[in-house]
Amino acid sequence: MMSSRRVSSVVVLGSTGSIGMSTLSVMAQHSERFHVFALAANSDVDTMFSQCIAFNPRYAVLANEAAAEKLAARLHTSSVDCVVMGGAAALEFVSAHEEVDVVMAAIVGAAGLASTLGAARAGKRIMLANKESMVMAGPLLINTAQQSGAIILPIDSEHNAIFQALPADYSRDVQAAGIRRLILTASGGPFLHASAEALSSATPDQACAHPTWSMGRKISVDSATLMNKGLEVIEAHFLFGANADQIDVVIHPQSIVHSMVEYVDGSVIAQLGSPDMRTPIAHALAFPDRVDAGVTRLDLLSAGSLEFESPDMQRFPCLRLAYQALREGHSAPVYLNAANEVAVDRFLEQEIAFTAIAEVVETVLQQLPTVSVQSIDEIVEADRSARVCAKLASGELSGGQSTVQGSLH
Ligand code: NAD
Ligand code: MG
Repeated sequence: MMSSRRVSSVVVLGSTGSIGMSTLSVMAQHSERFHVFALAANSDVDTMFSQCIAFNPRYAVLANEAAAEKLAARLHTSSVDCVVMGGAAALEFVSAHEEVDVVMAAIVGAAGLASTLGAARAGKRIMLANKESMVMAGPLLINTAQQSGAIILPIDSEHNAIFQALPADYSRDVQAAGIRRLILTASGGPFLHASAEALSSATPDQACAHPTWSMGRKISVDSATLMNKGLEVIEAHFLFGANADQIDVVIHPQSIVHSMVEYVDGSVIAQLGSPDMRTPIAHALAFPDRVDAGVTRLDLLSAGSLEFESPDMQRFPCLRLAYQALREGHSAPVYLNAANEVAVDRFLEQEIAFTAIAEVVETVLQQLPTVSVQSIDEIVEADRSARVCAKLASGELSGGQSTVQGSLH
């Protein structure tokens, strides 16, 4: 049959990062189906310049204005005819542009919220890698998408696996679909069996040396603390409408079973594959079709044994804190995410210990009162106060060298 499919016009937010590059790699294999409309990132001029040469986008955005100027100067002397924009507002401009069909939301952290929400308002197909925006603003994002007709397809390998294991007409009602629970798998990260002493002296490089996945530094640290899994539990709650008691985490060091859905009849449906983000990216790009992702095929005969164990919430308190924030609801997930971003940053700067990340998050959750957050302004304000509180807490844990701008009110 002749295909009447038109070419999808795609914006890649966070194009210079790990997910962004994997996205471009899948798109390059299917250039007859997917066209890069815009690339966007923070400040990496060199990578953005080469991506512009390779993909010839209409727009290239760098949130950092000085970096955008450098990029414009370099592109000016090249053969590429692309409009360079600087500043955070340009991220929303490209993600809501009327000629855009698909937005890959792969900026790391809360910095991705406004552009993800902009894409939801504009009714785009959103490929959601930026889990932090779902943790911060789940109900707002889901409602906005429902009103505009935007479709949110999960890129996180676990949520993509669950999405694939759910009924095609699933509508965020676990009971109606006969689902007993969602089972998220976790690799356990580089410190799965590390002692408490080893954890307290862990360095950023050790934390970022992930055994099965190659990722950006923030999510690598999150994987090492298991906060990544905690954020994913909250993400799963908002995406799929399951409550905290219906979402379980199982450690699976081989990262081959990407997650599972257990139904009331006893069936457990899993999605398996090599640990390569190009699979969920290709799935969401082509959905409901399937395209070659260019990944190494899974060979179960050489994969060896698949192991499963329960997570240790004593050594990895971040996972417990995330469940606590999910049960508390309202502003608590926003606080959790903001405190974690500040603490991970401080840890990467070697100002606080690895084990202090959970302490900072716990302090912030204890100190800030839970308030209702419905509008984007309320979410941004909750995020801001949690950052102030987390900076104070990390300052105390680092021996007081840290300075804090702004104050608690
Ligand atoms: P990364 O650090 O490799 O890349 C982050 C990207 O975001 C870069 O392009 C950077 O320029 C951009 N960015 C950062 N701050 C920005 C700002 N203020 N304005 C505009 N752009 C900004 O991170 P990553 O590993 O690609 O992860 C990206 C997102 O995807 C994260 O939310 C992460 O949790 C999620 N995710 C990643 C993986 C993975 O395998 N890497 C898997 C699942 C989910
Ligand atoms: Mg994941």
